[in-house]
Formats: sequence, structure tokens, C-alpha cells
Amino acid sequence: MAERVLVGAGVGAGVAIGTTFYLPTASYHLSQSGSMQDPRRMFFSAARAAVAEVARELEADAEKTTGDSQNILYALAGILTDPELAGVLKDYFAEGAAPEQAIRGAFSQFSRKLLKLGGYFGERAADLDDLAERVIRQLGGVLDSVELPSSPFILITDNLSPMIANKLDPSLCLGVITASGGATSHAAIILKSARVPVVAGVYDATSVANGTRVVLDASSGQIFVKPDAIEIERYSLVAEANTTAIQIIAEKALKPLPVRVMANLGSSTESAAAVEAGADGVGLLRTELLFLGAETPPSLQDQMFEYSKIFSRFAGERVLARLLDVDVDKPLPFMQNSGDGKYAGRGLTALLANPEILREQLRALSQAQGYYPRTELWIMAPMVTSATQARQFLDFAAEVGLVGGDHPIKLGVMIEVPEVLVEAELTLILRMCDFVSIGTNDLTHYILQDYQPVNEAGRLLNQEHSRRTLSLEVDSPYEALIFSQVRRVIEAAKLVGKPVGVCGEMAADARASTQFIKWGVDSLSVAPALIAPLRAALSSAL
Ligand code: PEP
Ligand code: MG
Repeated sequence: MAERVLVGAGVGAGVAIGTTFYLPTASYHLSQSGSMQDPRRMFFSAARAAVAEVARELEADAEKTTGDSQNILYALAGILTDPELAGVLKDYFAEGAAPEQAIRGAFSQFSRKLLKLGGYFGERAADLDDLAERVIRQLGGVLDSVELPSSPFILITDNLSPMIANKLDPSLCLGVITASGGATSHAAIILKSARVPVVAGVYDATSVANGTRVVLDASSGQIFVKPDAIEIERYSLVAEANTTAIQIIAEKALKPLPVRVMANLGSSTESAAAVEAGADGVGLLRTELLFLGAETPPSLQDQMFEYSKIFSRFAGERVLARLLDVDVDKPLPFMQNSGDGKYAGRGLTALLANPEILREQLRALSQAQGYYPRTELWIMAPMVTSATQARQFLDFAAEVGLVGGDHPIKLGVMIEVPEVLVEAELTLILRMCDFVSIGTNDLTHYILQDYQPVNEAGRLLNQEHSRRTLSLEVDSPYEALIFSQVRRVIEAAKLVGKPVGVCGEMAADARASTQFIKWGVDSLSVAPALIAPLRAALSSAL
């Protein structure tokens, strides 16, 4: 599996595989020196150079004048060369701020400080906003000075301007990842028509080091950072086939399959790709994107708007919406508590520790579904660690009116940590929930982590926060171990007559899915780009 998987809003259905090239928003002349290793340091030194240049200009202007004007210009130049300002600026960059943000933030923090000092310096505080803009312009340079690599690359940038989007050569720029900006931005539209796949609004995108190999899947809004050989192989097939070829596979007369082949979506923008790929509904709607990078939780209306866009596309179909599953090193600012235990900060553990977020998301999903009664909504809780936790989730759902009567919404949980594979826990969970879905990404990771002491792959698991750090060798004892656990869950669910699906990456592997089908799985859910190839492979394998 990839080292990390980032989620954003995918534009179009394309897939790109390549190495990243980081383009700063304030696109100044990029050096050839290979000093792109650490963009934060590079930004900081470039910003300092821009500050120094503006200070020099102010001094030059001061020399041409006299009296008060001269004093003010010298004072402003002095403020710009104050080491404390450089310190504040450095802190902003160290935290990963984009250049404009860092400069505006540092200057306004420094201006508040001057205001407090009062007197002459206090009076200069107001000038700092103007100076910040002047430094940004200085840093910005001209678009024509941007040097892009001459070999194919995947562009990462904070926020792409339409002008740069226009400049990109689709034969070299294989895909674009932006940290901010949405799927409907001007730049994204330009790229879509040039058939360059885009994933927009990817929290943490700028932390991906320059020159990193990634798979960009616009159909599911996912970026696989340092993908493994299997992921590369799977996606290469799709990347090489153009849209028409995929369409042909999708339209070919295939054997009807005994399972639903559903879509994994990272946001509403991939709905069209899922419909085009002929998805039998949505097997996993990841909802993280609404929450990542925000200072405050999304409002009920914002959530309803996003969910409605998906529900309206899938009238008459099933949509499995997964509640927020935070998976970032830094807690989100509005998630006050992380909960306890091994899974603190993730999935249902984090939601139960922040009950207002949980209630609000349940309300938003249910109210949005109310507007689209033909959409069959199934809600599932992520990273459930015990039957007790599953009960707590159902209690919250009951509190907001989702249980009882002839309420159409079904409630289930994801099976993706080893603790719920214990027979007693699994049986209780299966009895109380309407369905379960197996998340093989986390399940693989956590099962193998438990085997760390005796597992030679364990040495790859040392990065505590990175949960996708190893590949599963085909036919290895580890693969057999995961398969046997997936089989247990499928068979146990069938025994009590509850629907069970698989929505992790493993579902896209036709060899694995053929087994899942034999054991009785009801649905497989994969990235839209992988639906047609999976259907075709299953159709000939079964
Ligand atoms: C999984 O863990 O298999 C899964 C589908 O969820 P995610 O990849 O979003 O954690
Ligand atoms: Mg998971």
C-alpha cells in the first residue's frame, strides 16, 4: 500500500502516475540548483530576499527626499530589516503556510506589536499592510519566469491561477494537485477541458516532497503517495487507456455479476465519474474533505449541500456514507478531544469524544436524504473498536431520530481493526447493526502491526502515524492471514443474514474479489476509474 493517501475533490475521471513538481503560488524564478528539497526553507529565504529588496527600495527613495518623508521611509526600511520580523516570518513558513499567507500573517502580527508600542512606531503599524502587499508583489515576479520541468511531472501547488493553468502543456503536466481552491475553480475547468486530471483542495498537499512518486486518481479524489507496485500496476492500465477505451470496457456486454460494484468517492465532484463508470451506487462516501483544513466544523447547511449533490445523482441507488474519519497527525482545531486508547483521534473514537460533531453530521445526512427519498442512504461509523462503541453509535443515531419506526436509513459499521474480529464482539456487532463494510486498508495495516514483533515487514511500520506503510506480497502468509479474517467476517455476516461489503483497495484486485464473491460478499466498492477494469476481470474470472 501507498505510504499515505490524501483526499481532495477530483475533477474528471482521469488518472495520472508520475513524480511531483512543487510550484509556489507566488511563482518566482525557480533556481536550477535542485534546492527544491524543502519548500518551506526555500520560501523563507525567497521571502527574506524579497523583504530585503523592498527595504533597499525604501532606502533609495528615502535618499531622494528630505524631512518627515525621509524619516518615515527610513523607519519603514528599519522595520523591514528588524530580525524579529524575520523570526515571525520563519515561524509561519515552518508551520507550512503558503507564501502570501505567511507574509500577510507575519506582517499583521508585527503590526499589532507596533501598535502596542504606540508612539512613532505605533503610527507606522498601518503601513505594514501595504508593505506586505509590496513584498508579495516582489516575490511574485512574472509568470513568464516560471520554469517548469522539461520531463513529465505532476504539479503540486497551493492554488492554481487560470493563467498558469493555461500555460501548462498537457503532454508534460500529467496531473495537478492543489492545496486550496475547489473543483469548480476557473483553473480546474481549464484543466478539465485539456484532459489533465486534477484533485483540488487536498489538505496537506504541500507536505509532499518535490520529486515524490504519486498516483493521482481524479475519479475518487485520492492521491497515493509513494504507491506500491500493485497500485501502480492497477492504475497504469487505467492511465494508459484513454476515456474512450474505458467507456468501451464499461459498455462491453459483460456477464451480470452476483455483487454490486459500487464507487468510493472522496467528495460530490466525483459523482459524475462514478455514474459514467456505471457504478451500482456509492459503497464508500468519505466525508473528511468537508472537515479537513477548516477552522470551524462545517455547518449543517454546508454538509447538507454537499450530501445533496451526491444523493441527487444516485436517485434509486444506494449510498453508503461514512461518518468523519480523521486521519491526520495534527488534530483538527474544532475536535476538542481525541478519545482514549490505541485509536485515539481516529474514527468513531474521536467522534464519540466530540458528540456535537457526530450529532450534527447524522442530522445533516438524514435531513439531506429527506429531500431525496429515492436515494437509499446507509450510514456507517468508521474504525469501530468494540460492540460497546457500535452501541454508542446506534444510541446517538436513535437520539437524532434515525432508529425505529419505518425509518429508511440503515446503520452499520466498518470492520477495520483487529479488536472487532474477536468472535464475541463480531457477533454482537452483526446482531445490532443493519450491515457491515470491511475496510481492508486499515484492517491490513492494523493486523500486521499486531504481528510486528515476528513480522519482517514490521520494520516498515515504525512511522507510527503513517498507517499505510507496507505492501502485501501476493501469496505471502500475511496475505493468507488477512484473507482468512475477511472470510470470517463475510461468513459470519451471511450467517445472520446481514449485508456485507468490502470497500478497501483489496476490492479492486479481481483475484481477491473473486474469493470474496465465493464467500458471499454482497458488494465491492472501488475508485470509479477501477470499476470498468474490475467488472471486466470479474466477468471473465467467474
Ligand atoms: C479502509 O480502511 O479500507 C477504508 C476503506 O477506509 P479508508 O481508506 O478511508 O481509511
Ligand atoms: Mg479505513
